[in-house]
Amino acid sequence: MSHRILVTRSSMPAYEEYCEEIKDIWESHWLTNMGSKHNLLQQKLLQYLDVDKIDLVTNGHMALELSIQALNLQGEVITTPFTFASTTHAIVRNGLTPVFCDVNPMDFTMDVTKIEALITDKTCAIIPVHVYGNVCNVEEIERIARKYGLKVIYDAAHTFGVRYKGRGIGSYGDVSCFSFHATKVFNTIEGGAVSFHDDAFGHALYNLKNFGIRGPEIVESVGTNAKMNEFSAAMGLCNLRHIDAEIAKREGIVLHYRSRLEGVAGIQFSPIQRDTQPNYAYFPVVFDEKRFGASRNEVMDRLAANGIGARKYFYPLTNSFDCFHGTYDVYQTPVALYLSKRVLTLPLYADLELADVDRICDVILQCKNET
Ligand SMILES: *Cc1c(COP(=O)(O)O)cnc(C)c1O
Repeated sequence: MSHRILVTRSSMPAYEEYCEEIKDIWESHWLTNMGSKHNLLQQKLLQYLDVDKIDLVTNGHMALELSIQALNLQGEVITTPFTFASTTHAIVRNGLTPVFCDVNPMDFTMDVTKIEALITDKTCAIIPVHVYGNVCNVEEIERIARKYGLKVIYDAAHTFGVRYKGRGIGSYGDVSCFSFHATKVFNTIEGGAVSFHDDAFGHALYNLKNFGIRGPEIVESVGTNAKMNEFSAAMGLCNLRHIDAEIAKREGIVLHYRSRLEGVAGIQFSPIQRDTQPNYAYFPVVFDEKRFGASRNEVMDRLAANGIGARKYFYPLTNSFDCFHGTYDVYQTPVALYLSKRVLTLPLYADLELADVDRICDVILQCKNET
């Protein structure tokens, strides 16, 4: 059998480039606590992401959890279940109640026509997800948030480097949370960042990430530890040098997938979004068994038998997790439920060969032809 293809593969700089980057850490012996790598990466990301203000944290989940905490929210939060566990867990771990809004069947982001019906006098915020790198309807979400006085925190874990109408995606809403996990478009091994506008929020967030410590003898508030260390920041500085080339390679791969699968009955993928500069983070495909002739699970098993890893990303929905058993009604989000049973995320990373994309598409199309 030919070589195995995994669903993802972390971007890494050349070994020598990373060694060169960490050399001065051996001179300074400064390993963490807002060192020079941390501060330089923060400054470079402010520019690259084209946002107002930014703070780095240990991971994308802490970005979400601490942002929610820094906003001092209470009550209900409107969010979507078609996401990674982190989004919902960050809400629940803050003692808030997630209220699940369905997603739209075109780009899988929050269905903005269904938000207002979910607003009650307990609603304090909306936490939408730019899922797979698809941009939410930020204008409509902003209009609703203004009308009802709600905060908006975007889960921007999938949208590193995405721009919408000429602005960095992290400049929309009150707060946006990025993940720099190893599997994301841009990584610092583990890491994350919060972009925001309000200085008081930034102050509260910084306190939360550094034990509330403001000076050698000043502890202002009760915080936790979510600081990014120098080795992670060094990885980020290296990866950032290559990010545009990495995204360009991803684009080539996605265009190849699209050209091979476009127009095949029973296969759906997200449209190219208007006014958006995408990052090609994921390539999710929705299989309609009746029209395609094989189910998502059958396609996944066939790919696995051929040494190809694909993921049911996102299945199960967060509102049907075992840990929430009996708490939420998954039938409140029927589109998300439909998608979660049919979606398969195909292998995608910058170094994936186009010949491998052909191999993957051949296996998928074989499933169809046999039926
Ligand atoms: C990866 C991810 C997170 C969490 O980020 P980590 O850096 O892994 O903690 C949050 N939300 C979504 C949608 C993600 O994909």
